[in-house]
This record gives sequence, C-alpha cells and structure tokens, in this order.
Amino acid sequence: MNEKLLIGSHVGMNAPDFYLGSVKEAISYGSTAFMFYTGAPQNSFRKPLSELKIQEGRKLLQEAGIDESKLIVHAPYIINAANKNKPDLWEMSIRTIINEVQRTAGFGCKTLVLHPGNHVGNGAEVAIETLAEALDKVFEKDGTDVKIALETMCGKGTEIGITFEEIAKIIELSNHKDRLGVCLDTCHTSDYGYDLTDFDAVLDEFDRVIGLDRLLVIHLNDSKNPKGAHKDRHENLGYGFIGFDTLNAIAHNPRVSDIPKILETPYINEKPPYGKEIEMLKSGKFIDNWKENF
Ligand SMILES: [Zn+2]
Repeated sequence: MNEKLLIGSHVGMNAPDFYLGSVKEAISYGSTAFMFYTGAPQNSFRKPLSELKIQEGRKLLQEAGIDESKLIVHAPYIINAANKNKPDLWEMSIRTIINEVQRTAGFGCKTLVLHPGNHVGNGAEVAIETLAEALDKVFEKDGTDVKIALETMCGKGTEIGITFEEIAKIIELSNHKDRLGVCLDTCHTSDYGYDLTDFDAVLDEFDRVIGLDRLLVIHLNDSKNPKGAHKDRHENLGYGFIGFDTLNAIAHNPRVSDIPKILETPYINEKPPYGKEIEMLKSGKFIDNWKENF
C-alpha cells in the first residue's frame, strides 16, 4: 500500500507540554492526522490558549509534514444543545460551543466534532429543530470559519443524529449550511444498524441523503457489539463485530482518501494501542494475536 493514508488517533493534551505533547504523541504512533480535546472531554473548564504551547506544536507539525487542515478537535461530550427545556442550560451549551469553535481556530484547525445531543423525551423532531437553532446562534457569533462536524450516533438513550436522514435534516434547517459537515463513526454507525461490510453502499447512501462532500472525518473503531445493538462500546481493531478486514477496507477506500480517519479504540493495560493499529492499517495486514501480545 503506497497511498498516503490519513490516519491517526485521539491524543491527550496534558501538562507540561500540552499541544506540543499532543503532536509528539501523534508522531510517536506514526500518525498523519489526529484528534484532540482542548481540555477535559467531560467538562467545559478550559485553560487559556496562551498556556497550551500552541506555537511550538504547530512548528513541530510543519517539520513533521502533517497537514494542519486535517486535524480534528472534539467538543466536550456533556454539551446538549438539542434540548431547551431549561433555557439557561441550553444557552450555556451554545456559549460552550462558541468557545470551542473559537479555540479550534486558535489551534489553526478547521473542524470541530460535536455530538448532536439528546432529545430527553421531546422527540427527535423537536430536538433536531432545537439543535439547528442553537448551531445558527453559534455561527452568528463565533467569527470563525471552523466547520462543525455532526457525529453519527448509535441510538442509545434519546440520542439524535442516529440516521443519515436525521443529520441531513439538521443541516437542512440551518441558515449556515456551509459551516456544517459530518463525522461518521464506524462503531456508532454499525451499532445503529448500518452494514459496513459493503462500505461503498454506505457511502452511496450517505451521498444520496447528505452529500459526500459533507463528510469531514471518520472515527474508525471496532465495536464490542453486533450491528443494531445501540450500545456504543468501542473495541480494538479486529477484536469486535466489525472486524479488521471491513475497517481496513474503509481506511483504504479511495472515495475517502482525503478524509482523516481517527482511532478512538480502548487502551490495553493502560497503554495506547494506536501505534500498533496504525501499523496494521498502513500495511493492510492484521497481526494475529496482537492484542494478547501487546
Ligand atoms: Zn464523538
């Protein structure tokens, strides 16, 4: 395989090196792209950008030949902008997204992944309208050109954004469609019920319903559960119900060669598996018992 595979993983951002450390971590796995949170994934407390060694990180990216426009920021997952039963909480979600979009721009990045949220009993239709309204409020204030990639969800609880049709509806309702794209998560998509064994058919469906030009990032994860389980538990490559061959075929599908593929698979014995998983994807070959021998 000699095409340049756009592959990487979620990486951390910790003291003392912060973004410089994130870039170093990604390089250590042989990544050509990566994703990070600009603070803790589970809350919206954020350190000022000036403390995060961004310039040092960007310099290293340039030296390593990593294309900054392919890097991905993930918004904290506590945000629920799809429900405004408590207006102050909804306003807070909007403010948090604005801050995250601006921080994404501050790193020189172009794409922020956002979970569409939960309807919490109001039904998907109302929630989709509420989210589109929230996103427009973000785009009217943030002053950047960062795109928000809505992530496909698996359908657990009251999640919205679980079908391509729901994602398309959110985009259709927005007055700022040029700022919206999609993150396709293989684990979520399979857990919802899409059959990834024929990925070209999934892409055809995506193209028909949403438009393939909206696809900005793929989260490449195996799943601990069978298709349609609505569970959302990620598994290491080749150890789940999707399987290595299907995930490898997705990684190398020429129709998504420009799209960064990001691993969010679980640590093994507290160690990141990404170097090994990236190595297998680059070679296109599964290493038997790699996890047992990790
Ligand atoms: Zn996500």
